[in-house]
Amino acid sequence: MKIGVDAGGTLVKVACEKGGAIEYFKRPSSELRAVADWLREQEGAAVCLTGGRAAALKSLAGIPVAETVEFEATCRGASRLLSDAGAEPDSFLLTNVGTGTSIHHVANGRQRRVGGTGVGGGTIIGLARLLTGQTDFDAVVRLAAQGRRDRIDLTVNHIYEGAEPPIPGDLTASNFGRVLSLASSERLSEEDLLASVIGLVGETAATVSVLAASSCGVSSILFVGSSFIRNDLLRDVVKRYTVLRGGSPLFVEGGEYSGALGALLSL
Ligand code: ATP
Ligand code: MG
Repeated sequence: MKIGVDAGGTLVKVACEKGGAIEYFKRPSSELRAVADWLREQEGAAVCLTGGRAAALKSLAGIPVAETVEFEATCRGASRLLSDAGAEPDSFLLTNVGTGTSIHHVANGRQRRVGGTGVGGGTIIGLARLLTGQTDFDAVVRLAAQGRRDRIDLTVNHIYEGAEPPIPGDLTASNFGRVLSLASSERLSEEDLLASVIGLVGETAATVSVLAASSCGVSSILFVGSSFIRNDLLRDVVKRYTVLRGGSPLFVEGGEYSGALGALLSL
């Protein structure tokens, strides 16, 4: 048996190969000890760890394990998922929207980290808690999907007020920039606030990715990371914004397991 583990800042992702099939599961990083106990029970398994919490997991598990660099693992796993889906461009940009967002140029099987932003999945949960008190990711995503952003976010069209803008009018001119125009009696719902939080994160990830892609001379951008799990709204914001800014967005099934799969593949 082979096991690849990507122990990230928020979630531990596990890819486990038994009899040719790969099974995947995840646990909160706060339960690192339980993952370490589980690893110890998998006698005879070859194990490779990656991610920011890999060293902590290794010391809790206390068994011999291999380690691999997170960025290499993520790109290796993502390339495999893409080729399994029948679509592997020679060269593409990989944006991992995890707790934070990390951006890589992948070409000829090698990766180079080209940037990142602290605006990521941790921002969704952090701002959700500050603005609404919600801390459960699935609840945040469900509520956000029912919200409307038009009273919170200022678009280019809002500023130009009917005049012809020099850039697409539906681009957001200022995330949360419309809030000050609200009458003091107007209340914003949790749904609307959370929709705007997802908008902020998705548009930031898409915008920095498209800029990075153009500086690398590529247009395909593969978005992975657990922030997209059951989160159609974030996916839609990222797709729409990437296209609006001239890039080609890609998603793969199981993209959040890229790092765990890449660790497994290195064994
Ligand atoms: P990093 O790579 O930045 O160290 P990570 O690998 O833990 O972090 P991911 O697992 O890719 O990051 O994504 C974490 C994000 O996924 C969270 O910030 C949150 O927005 C979202 N998420 C999805 N499912 C859950 C969940 N069950 N619990 C908490 N967050 C979740
Ligand atoms: Mg990660």
